[in-house]
Order: sequence, then C-alpha cells, then structure tokens
Amino acid sequence: MTSFDTVVPFQLENSAVRGRLVRLDAQAWKIIDQHNYPTVVNGFLAQATALGIALANCFKFDGLFTLQITGDGPLRILVIDIEDQKFVRGCARFEENQIQSLSPQDSKNIQKVFGQGTLVFTIDPKTGEDRYQGVVELTGKTLSETTHHFFRQSEQLETGIVLAHSSDQHELACAALMIQRLPLPHTVSAEEKDEADDQWIHALSIVGSTTRKELLDRNLSNTDLLYRLFWEGGVRTYDAQAIEARCRCSQVKIRDMLDGFSALDRKEMVFDDKITVTCEFCGVGYSFAEDDF
Ligand SMILES: [Zn+2]
Repeated sequence: MTSFDTVVPFQLENSAVRGRLVRLDAQAWKIIDQHNYPTVVNGFLAQATALGIALANCFKFDGLFTLQITGDGPLRILVIDIEDQKFVRGCARFEENQIQSLSPQDSKNIQKVFGQGTLVFTIDPKTGEDRYQGVVELTGKTLSETTHHFFRQSEQLETGIVLAHSSDQHELACAALMIQRLPLPHTVSAEEKDEADDQWIHALSIVGSTTRKELLDRNLSNTDLLYRLFWEGGVRTYDAQAIEARCRCSQVKIRDMLDGFSALDRKEMVFDDKITVTCEFCGVGYSFAEDDF
C-alpha cells in the first residue's frame, strides 16, 4: 500500500480541534478511468470523492454513506458512495453538449455546472440505527463553499474544509483537508474560551492558506504535510485508514434488480436474445437470458 489512498485522522495539540486529511492517488484515478467523462465532470467526481470520504469518516458507523449532488444544469447527477468507511465508487450523469459549451470560468463554478441544485448526504448504518440525512442547496462557487454552508446552517460542529483535484496523473487525483471544532466543557473560563476561539481562527486560516500544490504533491507525505501546516501548536496523527475503489455490483444483485421488473418490462429489454445491463458505477457488463427469470 502506498501512503496515499488513505484518510488520516488528526488532532491539534492542546486544542479542541480535530481533523481529517484525505489524499487519494491510484484508487481515485481508477474511479476516473472507469468512466470516460469530460474533464469538468472528472473534476467534480474527484472532489466529491475526497469530500465524501472526509465526511463519512467523521461519523463512526458501519454501513453506507452516500453523497449525491443533483441539479438542473449541465451536470445532472453525481453520486459517490462509501461502504464501511473503506470501499468507494462514483458515477455521474450529464448533458454532453451543455458540458462542452461551459466556459473555462463557468466550468469551475458549481452553480454553473450543476445549475440550481442540492447536495444530499445519507448515512445508512448496517446495525439498523436511524438513517441520517443532511441536505443543503448548492451555494457559492465551489463544493467546499457549499459544504461550509451545510455546516453553518445545521447543528453540526464548526468546520473548515479545502478540496483539491487534478487532471494530471503526475499529481494525486484529489485531496480534502477538514478541521472541526469540538465543543468545550461547560466549566471553561472566559479566558480559556477566548484562547480556544483564537486557536480555532488560527487553524482555519492555516487550512484556508493550504495550497493545491501541497495537497496534491506526491513527494510530500501526509505526516510531513500536516507537520508543515500545524507545526506551531503541534499535531498528533492517528493511524491512516485505507480507501479502496471497489464496486458492489454482482451478477446476483443485478439479477435481483431485474427480478423486480415485470416480465413484460424485461421483454422490452431483450436485445440479441439477451438482457444486458452495464453497471453505471464501474462499467462492468452483465447479461442474462430472458428465461433466467
Ligand atoms: Zn459495478
């Protein structure tokens, strides 16, 4: 395993700030290479992958985390899902000609690319606990601005996040650096609270000044990057957790899905005596005979 394709939890020393560093290399390139999407779509796919992993890792649960962005613009749907904090896959649907006619400036603007839309993430624990869903309207120009908006409007922890992605395979495919402010005990003095405020603002400014180059540089290890950023107050890193691009589709699952259709509907899917289904996430094709059902 390389040191990338991981999420690294960390904690700033002597402060109530924790964070996640996600940096993806081969596994994110694999997701991108599974599709033949335009560069604009790949960019949002890569950023959403890094964001999804950072968010999923903040919630301690086994099960499925889904991040979905939908809109009425050129890019209609983008879905990332992550199973058990480890296995990630993603796909998108878009209007090819509308994507191609976006200007270079507009193609970086989330509201031009997706139009009016929403970002929804869903936590679906395996253990049967309640499903949790967070929804936010696409806001600002970037995916990180929309994410900030979500955390501001919800009852969640104060959060700072930067995202980066590349279309050049000499760099890492994507990265997310996220920090969150943990609640202080009720017993803290006004002075301690002021100090905590200052620490938070300082940490936010560090995250805000992190460059795209640093985040995507293969020659800069995760720990070196975190120490370079937070050396002043100190940073404690925890074990990196591996991320793997892996689809959950299978012959059995696709068959079960087709079983849900009526015989008449299935008849309409027959082409060359076969029903062929291609997984939208990984591009693997499955074929069935009509009387398999
Ligand atoms: Zn698949």
